[in-house]
Amino acid sequence: MKIISDIQELRSQLRGQNRASFVPTMGNLHEGHLSLMRLARLHGDPVVASIFVNRLQFGPNEDFDTYPRTMDADIAKLEKEGVYVLFAPREKDLYPEPQEYRIKPPQQLGDILEGEFRPGFFIGVCTVVMKLFSCVQPSVSIFGKKDYQQLMIIRQMVQQFALPMEIIPAETIRAADGLALSSRNSFLSQDERAEAPQLQNALQDLRQQILDLGACNPQQLLALEKKVKDVLIARGWQPDYIAIRQQKDLLTPSDIERAPLVILAAAKLGKTRLIDNLEI
Ligand code: AMP
Repeated sequence: MKIISDIQELRSQLRGQNRASFVPTMGNLHEGHLSLMRLARLHGDPVVASIFVNRLQFGPNEDFDTYPRTMDADIAKLEKEGVYVLFAPREKDLYPEPQEYRIKPPQQLGDILEGEFRPGFFIGVCTVVMKLFSCVQPSVSIFGKKDYQQLMIIRQMVQQFALPMEIIPAETIRAADGLALSSRNSFLSQDERAEAPQLQNALQDLRQQILDLGACNPQQLLALEKKVKDVLIARGWQPDYIAIRQQKDLLTPSDIERAPLVILAAAKLGKTRLIDNLEI
């Protein structure tokens, strides 16, 4: 595997090849990330992975400085997956000067849910992803459904800018107890790690309650959201949101004629913020 940090060097390395299958990450790789590498291989050759902890998408009081960085272990994992190039730019490679041009997703999708609780997050994500796409010029790129809203925003960005590439969604990989794998899980204490699967359990319970209700109105759904939130609070969580939304646009379901739904959740356990979701 070639490890490249410089954009020009990356371009020379990829010249004359088929357009890559690309997996952007922030490193500290786990089985979730590796499942994306495998899916990338199925969709095209060569596979390019990137590791870049993107300062632009972190708020001033977020965990940019403490975000886990494990480059040597990550390299060993990517070697095993048969990745052709690891693009690991330094900050001066990707942002040699302040990144003043930025991509802002539409308010109705970018400023809700994660966008509400992490202002500027999706601007940072879209900007870096667009720049990485410009560096790698892939034919396909893989994104995890773990970050459900992010996947939707990137898909729509690619569509609206008519980028000549396809976004492929990947299913969420979980620990045996149901906790979605995440680099931030390593911040959890032993007790918190034991509690953490309760987030997904709560979503499963909520899903069952929605199915049991059958036809229902938005007020009933709101009441169910609140009930689950209260259960989590009683267990020591600090939920940002538990939201039942339409899969197609992440807006609140507007009628009883039920379109496919998804439950999205973000909650803090101690100092660690976890997100998860469940399609209905
Ligand atoms: P990150 O390094 O957290 O920015 O994630 C890089 C990519 O891996 C994103 O597309 C994530 O959605 C995806 N990802 C993260 N965790 C998981 C998981 N548990 N299962 C599947 N994909 C994941």
